[in-house]
Amino acid sequence: MKHSLDILPLQSWIDTGDKPLIIAGPCSAETEEQVVSTAHLLANTGKVNVLRAGIWKPRTRPGEFEGIGSVGLQWLKRAKEETGLLTATEVATAKHVEEALAAGIDILWVGARSTANPFTVQEIADALKGVDVPVLVKNPVNPDLSLWIGALERINGAGIKKLGAIHRGFSSFEKTAFRNEPMWDIAIQLKTIAPELPIINDPSHICGNRELIPYITQKAMDMDMQGLIIESHIDPSVAWTDAKQQVTPAALADLLDNLSIRHAAS
Ligand code: PEP
Ligand code: MN
Repeated sequence: MKHSLDILPLQSWIDTGDKPLIIAGPCSAETEEQVVSTAHLLANTGKVNVLRAGIWKPRTRPGEFEGIGSVGLQWLKRAKEETGLLTATEVATAKHVEEALAAGIDILWVGARSTANPFTVQEIADALKGVDVPVLVKNPVNPDLSLWIGALERINGAGIKKLGAIHRGFSSFEKTAFRNEPMWDIAIQLKTIAPELPIINDPSHICGNRELIPYITQKAMDMDMQGLIIESHIDPSVAWTDAKQQVTPAALADLLDNLSIRHAAS
């Protein structure tokens, strides 16, 4: 499969030393106190580069918490001011892109449900024209490598060269131990087609429960993935979304300490 990606290496836009890029933070921003206190605990580990939090949440079914909305951007901004962590959030519409950029969010990501819809991805890409911001594109919910590459091409086509992919696993009819099947071969194919594209693993959404996370995280490192995005909440048991898969900042530090990393990320 041909592709036409023109991208910059990860280390040219974020300095992680010789370590993988670590993005961590709650699935959803819930309250200002939750975002800011989680950020402090994560920053204090000394192992986290970027604070993540979903502000607009694409829920599979209606009637559940759909995100705190724009006010959460100010909480991320405060967390950054107090901790120095960079910030990242999911964008799914042109308006999200405009608001996130106006609030100074450092990294945007496209969620798995959005990647599956070329109209949505194109809308996001159009809103990014002329902007210099890193964008990470999650794999689509369905195991379709072309959709993933197509989304990366649309964002890249808008002039975004600070580009990365997030491997978060794929929905499957078959129920297994994983919430989303990793289907590692799809990530391997992406790596083969676009070796210069950084791939960041999202063990939280692959596993769906925190017990499996160390196993998937180690596997991602063994495959030389260049980073991790892991959901971390100050008190996972009361998280408003994805409670079963979130880990405390202390557990995250422990997890990262116990990883064996063969190569420096490049
Ligand atoms: C998330 O990161 O919280 C999220 C909604 O992820 P995904 O798009 O991978 O389902
Ligand atoms: Mn989540």
